[in-house]
Amino acid sequence: MQVCTRCVLPETYPGITFDENGVCNICHTFDAGEKEREPERFQSEEEVKAALQKYKNLGRKYDLLVPLSGGVDSCFTLIRIVEDFGLKPMVFHSDHGWDDPIATRNVEKLCKELDVDLLIWKNELKFMRRLFKIFNESTEPDVSPCFPCGNMLYLNGLEIAANFNVPLVINGYSKGQTAMMHDEKKARDWYSKMINVILDSGDTDFLDQFTKKWAVLNQQVIYQDRRDLEKPVDPEKILFIPFFVFKFYKTDKEELKKICKARFDWEPLEEGSGFPARTTNCEMIWLNSVRDMKIRKYTHYHDEYSTIVRAGEMTREQALEDLELDPPPGLLEKLAKDINFDLKYLDTVKPKKVEPRTKFVKAESKMSKEEDDDFSF
Ligand SMILES: [Zn+2]
Repeated sequence: MQVCTRCVLPETYPGITFDENGVCNICHTFDAGEKEREPERFQSEEEVKAALQKYKNLGRKYDLLVPLSGGVDSCFTLIRIVEDFGLKPMVFHSDHGWDDPIATRNVEKLCKELDVDLLIWKNELKFMRRLFKIFNESTEPDVSPCFPCGNMLYLNGLEIAANFNVPLVINGYSKGQTAMMHDEKKARDWYSKMINVILDSGDTDFLDQFTKKWAVLNQQVIYQDRRDLEKPVDPEKILFIPFFVFKFYKTDKEELKKICKARFDWEPLEEGSGFPARTTNCEMIWLNSVRDMKIRKYTHYHDEYSTIVRAGEMTREQALEDLELDPPPGLLEKLAKDINFDLKYLDTVKPKKVEPRTKFVKAESKMSKEEDDDFSF
């Protein structure tokens, strides 16, 4: 399999082409866009800090919401927000059923250490089981089972911010996740494909529960560049900022690990139990990624890590090493049993051929015009 000689995208990535040196078209597009973006960026942490101070004087109980997974990216974000920016956060941890207990322990330890309020949201397990079963059984190559799950976690955060009247959400998405989030065209396409997958499953109750969750998106504004933070606060909206969007914060796991360990006895997952390696991701990612390698022929981590490599925050060699998919013995069987999924299905299944989407219109008609205009995640 051909892999870009600069990032880690394989030849199976949709729309990829390679030049004579084996560098992909996405790397070339990235280089072209880098210079254009420069004037619209904050140049230092001090500038960001100054721009965020206006959130202190809004007379609300919390200045912002910080979703915390227990991994180093989000822990580092929270430490900075509290200790360097002096903002008062409400911390939110989403427990969807397959979190490693070490991750939850990190969350609890850090919140105690910083003396901040923590809200743990437990998703209804029945709903999450259904979600993973439907999307693992799907033959849609463009949608990973991690997408609807990630969307639910994200929307839970927004919902809490809306309910507690919190005007700002800052999370620890890496530059790779941020780039995926900023691609609005792709996000719309993924949404309609997710709806089609659920329609194909015939589970209308699940469809109903799933689509209802998206209403809160009307209230969010995703941070694009410094102008979004320099504007006055819009009391009707929730501004969403991925912390690592600022160029002076690097997604360097080893460096962040040192900072977290020094501050509060942060614990890594057991060696070999997270995918990609060195992350604090949930268990279900193993099954989702095995399914994705079968149907999509790459994972969304290849997408994410290729952006991180291009940004110079990880070497290509390290990324390729971290992306080696080698599930712990017996784990796939356990996860498949949890969601009532037949693993043998993956031995024979073929990806769906791209065909005209007759169901697309039906799915879109469920959204109001207003929701449709504001759609992005
Ligand atoms: Zn590339």
